[in-house]
Amino acid sequence: MHYEKKRVLSGMRPTGPLHLGHYVGALDNWKKMADEYDCYFMVADWHALTTEYEEPARISSWIKELFLDFLSAGLDPEKSVLFVQSDIKEHAELTLLLGMLTPLSWLERVPTYKEQKQQLVNKDLSTYGFLGYPLLQTADIIIYNADRVPVGQDQLPHLELAREIVRRFNYLYGTYFTEPEGLLSPAPKLPGIDGRKMSKSYDNAIYLKDSPEEIMKKINQMVTDPARVRRNDKGHPEVCSVYSYQEIFNTDQKEEIAEGCRTASIGCRDCKKQLFERIWQELEPVQKKRKELQNNMDFVNEVREQGKKKALQRAEKTIRDVHRLMGLL
Ligand code: SF4
Repeated sequence: MHYEKKRVLSGMRPTGPLHLGHYVGALDNWKKMADEYDCYFMVADWHALTTEYEEPARISSWIKELFLDFLSAGLDPEKSVLFVQSDIKEHAELTLLLGMLTPLSWLERVPTYKEQKQQLVNKDLSTYGFLGYPLLQTADIIIYNADRVPVGQDQLPHLELAREIVRRFNYLYGTYFTEPEGLLSPAPKLPGIDGRKMSKSYDNAIYLKDSPEEIMKKINQMVTDPARVRRNDKGHPEVCSVYSYQEIFNTDQKEEIAEGCRTASIGCRDCKKQLFERIWQELEPVQKKRKELQNNMDFVNEVREQGKKKALQRAEKTIRDVHRLMGLL
């Protein structure tokens, strides 16, 4: 019996080096999804432009870096289509066409629009591009007729908007697009070394490119249970940042560590050392692969070219169909 896999689209903005939060929160998940779904993973450079438009040259250099990160973290171009958003100009055309039928109020009420405008105070985000960013996201998804989109809770309103736009398009011009559904990722959230959200702007991240010395230094700075002042004080792993990492990177020993912390049979120094070993076990092969790829940029460029070809094939078909349905022949 012929069985067609569901299609997934996801992307990352090239705005800086990837950190462990990206690795466990997205890339690791993408690798698993690649076996089950027909996956399209993109470097979302136009999305980066919506907030970084004052320094676009920086984005250009990060595109290459992010593409290298995709491959060195283990995304397999044989299993997934890996591409750069701006290589497929059809995303822009579909965004423009969808813009004609999308009421302004739908975009204005997306909660992240107001929130981000308030949070990113050092940037002027009163732009048409920033307001229209969820529309571009809709085009990214439906141009491949992706029916599954990995999302976090905070992105559900974007997906709801995409579904509304699809319904409106289908109502006006005839049913064509599938309403995408969210794949609520089980991805764990990793705090930064200071306990806040891991972010480049908070300077609290462990990066995939960090050397073992840098990683150890950062782990040593991590906030632990404040009640554990002396070695023989009993601790509470549930309030400790180091432990939230152990839960992710040291799954087979996490219970033992929690018990050791509660009974003071292990000290924070040993606990941190164990964590370092696990993180380095994970990152060493990633860094090794990255070095190999950097010495073989022809291969990396070829992967990008092949991804472009595959993505373009589908995107061009969608645009042809949209022209036909809208009577734009
Ligand atoms: S022993 Fe480990 S889990 Fe417990 S407080 Fe220290 S660093 Fe945290």
